[in-house]
Amino acid sequence: MADEQGPPETALREQLAANLAAVEQEVVAACQSAGRPRDSVQLIAVTKSAPEACLPVLATLGVTAMGESRPQQFARRTQLVPAVEWHLIGHLQRNKIDLVLPVAALIHSVDSDRLFAALSAAAAKQQRRLPILLEVNVSGEASKSGFTPADVLERIQTWTADPHLDVRGLMTMAPLDDQPETARPVFRGLRTLRDELRSRLSDPAALPELSMGMSGDFAVAIEEGATLIRVGSRLFQGLPSS
Ligand SMILES: *Cc1c(COP(=O)(O)O)cnc(C)c1O
Repeated sequence: MADEQGPPETALREQLAANLAAVEQEVVAACQSAGRPRDSVQLIAVTKSAPEACLPVLATLGVTAMGESRPQQFARRTQLVPAVEWHLIGHLQRNKIDLVLPVAALIHSVDSDRLFAALSAAAAKQQRRLPILLEVNVSGEASKSGFTPADVLERIQTWTADPHLDVRGLMTMAPLDDQPETARPVFRGLRTLRDELRSRLSDPAALPELSMGMSGDFAVAIEEGATLIRVGSRLFQGLPSS
């Protein structure tokens, strides 16, 4: 009954808590089926389509990392909720680097040599070593950005020697599809590429992070080795309208 629902903040909190619990349960199940510890996977709450009011609530519900895809909104929201780690997951133009560099915990979407070089120069100026991922177009779709696997194999030695960027691993986007299994070969391809890079670098611990899996396919991504899953719409479904 409407008069028993309490104030809108309560309804928002309850819906977010329920969504988060449902996602968490699936993360735990996927970790179990893959024989991986729960703490080997970090949930990045992708807030790009969420109303701002959700962000502080999510932080109090235990979300420790949030992701945005547009630099402008990233810059604004990192100030709104400074207590969590902020990840940039979308395309970054070089003229927006200064918006994101000071606060980014990790940039998932380094997708060109020119961006790599510009980020390295900007990080040098700030005297910091910036953690990044290389975005790889595993599926080969023309519409997707990212390096080809061949690019990465060819240049990984140069990139990992960069003094100002810390190349933590790889990121990919699976083709949009209703069936999570469609994504599996793409996720597996990213992990296989990472393993090949490790042997090229003669470093079995190199490139520890694999950022892959979204709302529709994060369980499959976990089974294929994801360490960072980027989940948006599942966390924000069914919100009370304001
Ligand atoms: C929007 C977005 C996500 C989250 O997608 P959902 O399907 O809403 O979970 C993940 N990664 C990137 C790069 C995105 O742009």
